[in-house]
Amino acid sequence: MATGISVLDKLPPDPLLGLMAAFREDDRTGKVDLGVGVFKTATGETPILRSVKSAEAALYKAETSKVYEGPQGNAAFGPAVAELAYGAESSILKAGRVTAFAAPGGCGSLGLAAGFIRKLNPNAAVWLSAPSWPNHAHICRQFGLTSKDYPYQGDGEGGVIMAPVQAALQSAAIGDAVLIQGPCHNPTGIDFSEAQWLELAAICNEKSLFPIIDIAYHGFARGLDVDLYGVRAFLAEVPEALVSYSCSKNFGLYRERAGALLVQAANADQADTARTHIASIARATYSMPPAHGAGIVAMILADAGLTQMWRDEVDEMRDRLLSLRSGFARALESIGHPSVAKALRDQNGMFSILPIVEGGAPRIREQFGIYMPGSGRINIAGLPEDRLDEVAERIATIL
Ligand code: PLP
Repeated sequence: MATGISVLDKLPPDPLLGLMAAFREDDRTGKVDLGVGVFKTATGETPILRSVKSAEAALYKAETSKVYEGPQGNAAFGPAVAELAYGAESSILKAGRVTAFAAPGGCGSLGLAAGFIRKLNPNAAVWLSAPSWPNHAHICRQFGLTSKDYPYQGDGEGGVIMAPVQAALQSAAIGDAVLIQGPCHNPTGIDFSEAQWLELAAICNEKSLFPIIDIAYHGFARGLDVDLYGVRAFLAEVPEALVSYSCSKNFGLYRERAGALLVQAANADQADTARTHIASIARATYSMPPAHGAGIVAMILADAGLTQMWRDEVDEMRDRLLSLRSGFARALESIGHPSVAKALRDQNGMFSILPIVEGGAPRIREQFGIYMPGSGRINIAGLPEDRLDEVAERIATIL
């Protein structure tokens, strides 16, 4: 009997990471990376935000120890992120119904969420939108959960076609979990409308589905204040929920691994019960969360000046995405693709899925040095603003 590492076959490389590596090795000038999901400036850089640099300098001066902060991490970070997600006036927060954990990025907090669902119900399936961000199913599997799909398609009016979502969730077993992405759905860019969030809450309550809300692009759709109206309306209707909040994109803290898991319970006592279980999952996986990114976020959100600077920077990032999106839509429209252009305009955030032909992505990669995954999902921030017509024409060859 084979034992040891010989029992394993090599896993195929992660397609997106493979695409990143191939892009780096491509020495053509004018190559275009629409693959990896990070924000980029006009010169193709992913800069450190000014607010982050300022907070980091202050943190460097103020920090006197690198001792562990405890399983929930920086004491100011969790509550500050909870306020961002729920709003400062939230009665749910005031009632002590939310316990917050710093985690190693959004993925770390999704891992805590999956571990917690497993504790609540080891047989739970996690319902994911189809399509979803591929790592959702991957994280579920890693934590011993199966996942199932609910269909996810735009209704052409800036919302989602609800009937198939409802039908799928009606077939869920009592005690299953449903993962719903907050603003700027990855990969489609299509979001639930506020009314649809309320419909989702009704289904969750009717079927006792445990909601996991994944927020990774807060501020990138319409603005920090309005982006979460639907999510907040939903959270007001459900007794319990898990909210994963990533600071990777809107604080530009990708490699610092700053995220939070917020657990909403029916009352403060149950929130405290949940706290002990999340702490136990964290202890057995990474023990204590990373401190640096969370420290930066806590410092920004505790200082009115830095908070304003950060809010302005989120606005700048969103404005850039919007202007690229509309410029690219205009370019596609002018060469005879009005429906793709309309879809692009209706969508939010960094991503859109283009209706490309089978095998189209490798073709334009080889021909023109335009890199995108086979699904046709593009990162809007990767579009070169001074060559939108040229890129549109080249992409049009595979639409
Ligand atoms: N959720 C979604 C939908 C994402 O797209 C991402 C990042 O791409 C994340 C969560 C988590 O990101 P991170 O672990 O880098 O914070």
